Amino acid sequence: MTVTASVNTRIQLSVKGQSQDTTCSTSLASGPWEFDKGMPDYGPGASVADVIPTNSPIQAQIPAKYREASDEELHERIIAAKKTLGDSVVILGHFYQRDEIVQHADYLGDSYQLAVAATKHAEAKAIVFCGVHFMAETADVLSNADQSVILPNLAAGCSMADMADTDSVEECWAQLTELYSRGPNGMGPNAEGKVPVIPVTYMNSSAALKAFCGRNGGIVCTSSNAKTVLEWAFERAERVLFFPDQHLGRNTALSMGIALENMPLWHGRKSLGGNTETALEQAKVILWNGFCSVHKRFTVGQIEKARVDFPGVRVIVHPECPMDVVLAADENGSTDYIRRAVDAATEPTTFAIGTEVNMVQRLAAQYPQHKIFCLDPVICPCSTMYRIHPAYLAWVLEELVAGRVVNQISVNPEVQLNAKVALERMLAAKPSV
Ligand code: SF4
Repeated sequence: MTVTASVNTRIQLSVKGQSQDTTCSTSLASGPWEFDKGMPDYGPGASVADVIPTNSPIQAQIPAKYREASDEELHERIIAAKKTLGDSVVILGHFYQRDEIVQHADYLGDSYQLAVAATKHAEAKAIVFCGVHFMAETADVLSNADQSVILPNLAAGCSMADMADTDSVEECWAQLTELYSRGPNGMGPNAEGKVPVIPVTYMNSSAALKAFCGRNGGIVCTSSNAKTVLEWAFERAERVLFFPDQHLGRNTALSMGIALENMPLWHGRKSLGGNTETALEQAKVILWNGFCSVHKRFTVGQIEKARVDFPGVRVIVHPECPMDVVLAADENGSTDYIRRAVDAATEPTTFAIGTEVNMVQRLAAQYPQHKIFCLDPVICPCSTMYRIHPAYLAWVLEELVAGRVVNQISVNPEVQLNAKVALERMLAAKPSV
């Protein structure tokens, strides 16, 4: 794979007027340090319009020698530092990272695959997680106590994960338990052995919320196993509180035959989340009002256009997309599902994909026998994934060479313990078939 094929290169050419591509923000051509000064917002890209929590971590300015280095120099510095560090460091790269980062990663995968990969390297004293904050937290929960997990840019959060903070979820839980404990068995099990409600958090959430699930009989899910996890929950509870992604929750529940009227949406800061008691009593899945701004960009109109332009096109979207988009697509599945679907196609195929553009573009480069394109014609990467620029990777690696750990992500031991309970429940959950 060549660097010139990267999304970042296309953005640079577009902003200089040297290509036909369009981007959602010309600021994408700048280094992320331009957005890390002072109080950050999410920066340019797909979550730029989302509201960032005031307590989000801020990335201090990195030295000028990194900010001012050329792409080639940064590439060489990363290679040299990695060589010096040898097995003492493992670099993890999420599917949505830019190619200039992915080419240095020892592992490429989704958030959970990467956290598991980290556990296979007990010899690595440092795990450099090129992804976003909640992913680094999960790696810290699952890794050994003597390993340091490093996030190259502390401002690489996740706007979806930030939409469910612990206080709001605790407040929601207090209201739900007050309502459901009025029943004959209180919050205890009914005659079928089911409690009134179980919390389920998507992997894309803070470690504190995973711990909340661990403490309250709940569980974690990924986009690969959401159905299995919901089945697990319904064996134990009459209903589920699902956060933070309403779309993954709704799309999964719908695929299990649950009616939309049994999926009320919970709006934080409103009494009963803006619902009636009756609606919550009849609920099967209570959906948190969160979403991914990357996957919200995909529309039914884009799918219709792809079908007109490319008759026979195979449309695959991520289940974080809105329901109407998922219903209009041919298939939906996790990033790993999409990757495997493309890999398994034996005949030349046209794929229109609804997920983050870096991953789609990489698939297109890896599988030239197919025509693969992103449903969204505008180049608009995930704002927070985009913040992991090679300058930050070079900086954290050279600091390690100098014997210093910077940007360490540490989850407090009690949170770790309870988060691990919820993660282990997920690992133990088996499909019903
Ligand atoms: S793609 Fe969406 S869910 Fe993933 S890190 Fe970006 S904002 Fe968060």
